[in-house]
Formats: sequence, C-alpha cells, structure tokens
Amino acid sequence: MLSRKDFRGQERPTWCRGCGNFGILSAITMALAEHDIAPHQLLMVTGIGCGSKLPHYMKVSAFNGLHGRPLPVATGARLANHGLRVMVVHGDGDGYGEGLSHFLNAARRNLQIVDIVQDNRIYGLTKGQYSPTSEQGKRTPTSPHGAIETPVNPLALAITAGATFVARGYSYELQQLAWMIGEALEWPGYALIDVLQPCVTWNKSYAYDFYTPRVYKLEDEDGYNPADREAAWEKSWEWGDRIPLGILYRGDPQPTYEDQTEVLTRGPLVGQPLRRLEASEIDALRLAIS
Ligand code: SF4
Repeated sequence: MLSRKDFRGQERPTWCRGCGNFGILSAITMALAEHDIAPHQLLMVTGIGCGSKLPHYMKVSAFNGLHGRPLPVATGARLANHGLRVMVVHGDGDGYGEGLSHFLNAARRNLQIVDIVQDNRIYGLTKGQYSPTSEQGKRTPTSPHGAIETPVNPLALAITAGATFVARGYSYELQQLAWMIGEALEWPGYALIDVLQPCVTWNKSYAYDFYTPRVYKLEDEDGYNPADREAAWEKSWEWGDRIPLGILYRGDPQPTYEDQTEVLTRGPLVGQPLRRLEASEIDALRLAIS
C-alpha cells in the first residue's frame, strides 16, 4: 500500500507562502496513494507557470513542456503508451489562453487524460497580468483601464466540447479535491478538474476570504444529478454569492480516442513489434497530435 511519502520529491516548493498550489500538490499525492498508483505508472505533463513546477516537488515521471502545450504532449504520450496513466497540471493562462484550442480538442477527442487546471484568474509567474478567467474590468499591469474581454467559462466550454467528466475543486477543500482527482484517474476518458487556486500575491480579490464563505459542495445539494448534462451546464454559470464545488457533470462514458484507433487495439505501441504502419494508421495518429 502506497503512502503520500512515496511521492515526496527532494526539492522544496518555492511557491509563495499561502499559495493554493500547496493544497493541489497535497491532494494529488493523496489521490495517487489512495488509488495505489505508483510513481512509475503515471506521467505528469505540465506547461509554464507557477503551478507547472508542481512535479519538481514530487517523485514522479514528468515532462515540463512549452507554454500552453502540455495537452499535445500528453496526447502523444497516451498514443505511444496507453498503458500509462497521464495527468496534465497547468494554470488558467496555460490551459485556457495559450492552450485553449488544445483544451477543446482534448475534450472532444476524449483521450484518457486527467486535466487539472490551477485556476487563480491571473498570470502569477509573470507578475500579475490578467488571464482568460480574469473578470471584466480587472485592473492589472496589462489592463490598467480594466480587462475588456469576456472571461472564459472553462466548465461550460468542456461540457459543450463533449467532455464527460467535468469538476471544480478548491485548493482549501483537500479531501473533496483528492476524492475528485481519484475519480478522474479512474474515469475512462478526458476528465477536467478546474481548481480554484488562490494566488495570494497577485490576485488578492480572489483569495481565501473571497472563496471560503461562498463555496458549497454539490454532494450536499439535494436533488443535484451530475448525470444531467443540461443541469450541469446551467450549474457551470453559477458564480457570486454561491460557487459550486464538486463533480458538475459525469455522463455516460464514451469510447475513447485510444479505443477507436485501430493500431492501439493490439496493445500499447511501445510494446508492439516494429513494423511499417499502414497509411490509415499514420493518419489516425497524426490527427490526434495536430
Ligand atoms: Fe502562488 Fe501566486 Fe505566488 Fe505564484 S505568484 S507561487 S500562484 S501565490
């Protein structure tokens, strides 16, 4: 039986004191230990940002890629070895800004990838520029007169793009977050967990004193049915005095991209004897990583 210590890295986190990333790191190790997923059975892929340094503080196989591009790397990894569990961890700028098209394509392709987004509604590493989830009117060094764009709603986007597992966590609700990460790790398809992650240095308007009195758990909500896609879509817009946490949508599992790629039905590519692929097999693999 694994414990959280089995995932402890040698480096100490350099995050600011009070950063929500500490909670996300703890929740991930709790979920991996609980589900008995050893470090060598998981590939963690990250992009660029404060939160993308997370695997530096773990004992895990990891690839720290380009800004906004961890999902294409994760896609390639799943196609090369779909015996491996793959988890992407990145921020809202990386995931919904530079990586927005990859996010939508991952949801509609339905590769078995757990996508954890550390959503602090700001670019933290580069010192507080507004991000795709910043609210309209947000004043930052890059929006001195207030952000003009409409913020993205990642939960609604994921549901619309075809994701069958869509959840929201909060880095201060460790037990619930660890539970949802565990559920996502077992989900046969793409799974998004958008995590409210206070950046205590650059986004003080969305710190713990904003979230804690507002969040509530969908598990405690009488009559909420996460299998109801329309109800989930409506719930994804709830924001203000009440902010829902939990699995908003868990639909019927759909065939994954891996299931439908003929060459992968014979087992992971890395375990197959070397041979020349048919043109149709090359096309299927190329489409997934384009
Ligand atoms: Fe965390 Fe913000 Fe500090 Fe980055 S700048 S480590 S997101 S508190």
